[in-house]
Amino acid sequence: MIDFHCHLDLYPDPSAVIKQADKEGVYILAVTTTPQAWKINQTLTSGFGRVKIAVGLHPELVLERHKEVEILCSIMKETRYVGEIGIDGSLKNKSSMQLQQEVFKKIISQCENLGGRIMSIHARNAVKEVLDVLEAHPKAGIPVIHWFSGTDIELGRAVQLGCWFSVGPGMLRSNKGRDIAKIIPQERILTETDGPFVRNASQPLMPWEVKEAERFLAELWQTDMNSIRLKIQNNFRTLISRKLSGDKTNVSASL
Ligand code: MN
Repeated sequence: MIDFHCHLDLYPDPSAVIKQADKEGVYILAVTTTPQAWKINQTLTSGFGRVKIAVGLHPELVLERHKEVEILCSIMKETRYVGEIGIDGSLKNKSSMQLQQEVFKKIISQCENLGGRIMSIHARNAVKEVLDVLEAHPKAGIPVIHWFSGTDIELGRAVQLGCWFSVGPGMLRSNKGRDIAKIIPQERILTETDGPFVRNASQPLMPWEVKEAERFLAELWQTDMNSIRLKIQNNFRTLISRKLSGDKTNVSASL
């Protein structure tokens, strides 16, 4: 199983979640919301080979923490994975849109400077803004848009720009989310939980509960769970083994 967007450090008991996820054989991209969380995540997950950590600065924290983009850009030299980054155009974050755009541009330029990164990107109510930046930096690496919620036309543009997509129960529980997932090219899809933000009744969704996303995809693609799991696993391997042009990290791409 693949959980390509999970906030491991934000569960009430991260160590217990990491251990259980390891038992269940889940591969995880642990995204972070502030650059400082990078070190904490490294300590938490050390010895768990199926977890990769992305360094990030969540768009909803940019207003308060935009200065930390310098720390982020520096840590980015040490990892192939960057996230959660992006732009949030929801009403409550509208006032920081311009700042968010500047910070996002800076991060994407740094991705390009470093020879390309794999990025987990938030684009709620800001798909156009996110794609404009990605289009201006074609060598930034491979963008993986998490929980895509734009229009069909925007999806087409994202696909053309080489984006991948991580989809989870939060998105697939809605009709709109399933309609979008149906038209995403199958070879560009990964699964995610976005736990602990996405919940299952009163409990945060656990990484191994990414099964729920697999179930939705099996229904959408009219196939069985085994084929879905294989397909997503293959997609994942294709993505992480992709050579990024001029990658200057000495971090191994293998998981
Ligand atoms: Mn998230």
